[in-house]
Amino acid sequence: MKIGIPKEINDKRVAVVPSVLPKIKSLGVEILIEKGAGDGSSFSDDTFVEEATICNRDRLLDDSDIIISINPLDDDDLKKIKKGTLLISMFQPYFDDSIIAKLKSYDLQGISMDMVPRTTLAQSMDVLSSMAAIAGYKAVLTAADHLPRYFPMMITAAGSVKPAKVLVLGAGVAGLQAIATARRLGSIVEAFDVRKAAKEEVESLGAKFVEVEGAKDDKDAGGYAVEQSEEFLKRQQAEVQNRAMNADVVITTAQVRGRKSPVLLPASTVEKMKNGSVIVDLAASTGGNCELTQNNQVINHNGVIIIGDSNLAAKMPQDASLLFCNNVLNFLKIIIKDGKINLDLSNEIIDSALITKNSE
Ligand code: NAD
Repeated sequence: MKIGIPKEINDKRVAVVPSVLPKIKSLGVEILIEKGAGDGSSFSDDTFVEEATICNRDRLLDDSDIIISINPLDDDDLKKIKKGTLLISMFQPYFDDSIIAKLKSYDLQGISMDMVPRTTLAQSMDVLSSMAAIAGYKAVLTAADHLPRYFPMMITAAGSVKPAKVLVLGAGVAGLQAIATARRLGSIVEAFDVRKAAKEEVESLGAKFVEVEGAKDDKDAGGYAVEQSEEFLKRQQAEVQNRAMNADVVITTAQVRGRKSPVLLPASTVEKMKNGSVIVDLAASTGGNCELTQNNQVINHNGVIIIGDSNLAAKMPQDASLLFCNNVLNFLKIIIKDGKINLDLSNEIIDSALITKNSE
């Protein structure tokens, strides 16, 4: 059986890295890699060649039994793939489920790594957490790069500098990593989330948890946040405004799976923020937590820099590729038995991730 790894389009990451190839091969498979697939992550073809066959894209699409990509392949590619092939990617069917019918129309099977349940058992396959953690870390570094002042307190012969104040909105995986990184850089951090469970996690990282009473916290939402009432969001916006006015950096990560992201920073709040302060909006691709965010753009609104980027993980491509690859390896271990694909739907992880089941 052959596993093919195409080069990503407009993304420097690659779905497998050389150091993990022997472990994938030990499952009894051959590996095909498109020429130049690792270039963006600083893995040259030479580093793959011992364990994999380097080939062109058309051969790879035609010859593979499993194709692994970080971003879903487009129609031009799908047409060229042989029927019955299993595609493993991040299809995000909770935003657009038309991908399911599309894959079926080409007679392809789809595993969506972002549908792996967020359970302890599946933690080692959780690509969303791997990518979100990188995004949270990079968000702080990006903010520091744009901030016209220090993050840590500095006592120098030329005078003392106060530490920067950072406000993190949404304390999921990305938010917690942003808090940890901002603390390591010596700033004072406050954070807010609608999930009550987040309070303890925020405080354990040495940040202050901002409380707004009355949030809906749904235990049946698989750990995800649920949409909040208009009335709650208004009260929340008012509290956020009080904090944002004093902050140097605001990092927003608040998302509600499959929905538009909540607006936590309306334009009126941005207009009250300090000149020179920086907002990094990781929810940019789902509408943004800041009303003024423009996805994939850096704008300056009355002296406040607003960075809209939901794909910061791709800006640290080497480790992002390594972690994605490890997550996929752990998934392959449960679906490959004796060199053959075995999609056992009694396994909850496989059942959740396989988006092209007949019942769908
Ligand atoms: P996410 O990316 O879906 O959302 C980011 C954060 O935004 C979440 O913490 C969410 O509660 C918060 N949010 C949503 N609406 C908000 C609002 N109006 N105001 C403020 N914050 C708001 O979340 P995620 O990082 O993917 O994590 C989702 C859940 O999965 C969390 O409960 C997390 O702890 C859990 N998780 C579990 C595992 C595991 O057990 N294996 C692994 C990863 C994550």
